[in-house]
Amino acid sequence: MRGLRAELSEIFTSIQGEGILLGVKQLFVRFSKCNLNCYYCDTPKDSKFCRDHVRGKTLRNPIDLEYVEDVAKSVKVHSISWTGGEPLLYADFIRNFEKIHPFYLESNMTLPDEAKKVRNLVDYVAGDFKVRFVLKNVDYEEVFENTVRCFKILRNTRKRLTFCKVVLPSNFPLDEVVQSVYSIKDYVSAVVLQPVFGENVKSLLELQDRLIEICDVRVIPQVHKYLGLR
Ligand code: SF4
Repeated sequence: MRGLRAELSEIFTSIQGEGILLGVKQLFVRFSKCNLNCYYCDTPKDSKFCRDHVRGKTLRNPIDLEYVEDVAKSVKVHSISWTGGEPLLYADFIRNFEKIHPFYLESNMTLPDEAKKVRNLVDYVAGDFKVRFVLKNVDYEEVFENTVRCFKILRNTRKRLTFCKVVLPSNFPLDEVVQSVYSIKDYVSAVVLQPVFGENVKSLLELQDRLIEICDVRVIPQVHKYLGLR
């Protein structure tokens, strides 16, 4: 469907700085809205303008799908990272996008009906499992249930690499995180424990010890921030 538009905050190329595909070069398409409200969020939720760093332009939102396709055609990358904000709020935009490069979805995994729209399109899924304490003003039981549904829909297959990312604040309920991981372990290739940038996360290695028997679990920080990259 042509004529689709989305609210973006920026378009740029960089390395993937998180998770198990750390270091690959990507085109990042960052959407500007989200259905959650994490305390550490550094993404503008509303943006009148989109900064296109590839072409050195600032554009007024919303942005045409064809414009982003043209940018994607002009770069050599491993994949397109649909990021945010929450990309699944724009599932129709993503599923109508010409697949010039493989699709890498970075999602908070709380919108299962939208996840169904892109399940046959995405090649990589970096899906969050939110810790209760990082969210403000939400029904956590609903978040939990929707997250498990999303991982089931976007599960790891022979054609798709899906992993889970748990962003950890300095204090967190260890048993609850173990339970979260246990509930999605059959749908993911690995679980990444990612400390909130700049926080001294207690119990990180204790958590890894608890999880090591149920999945491939790795501690990986946000490397792009240490390198001073976007
Ligand atoms: S899910 Fe991501 S974009 Fe949404 S509020 Fe949390 S950190 Fe920000």
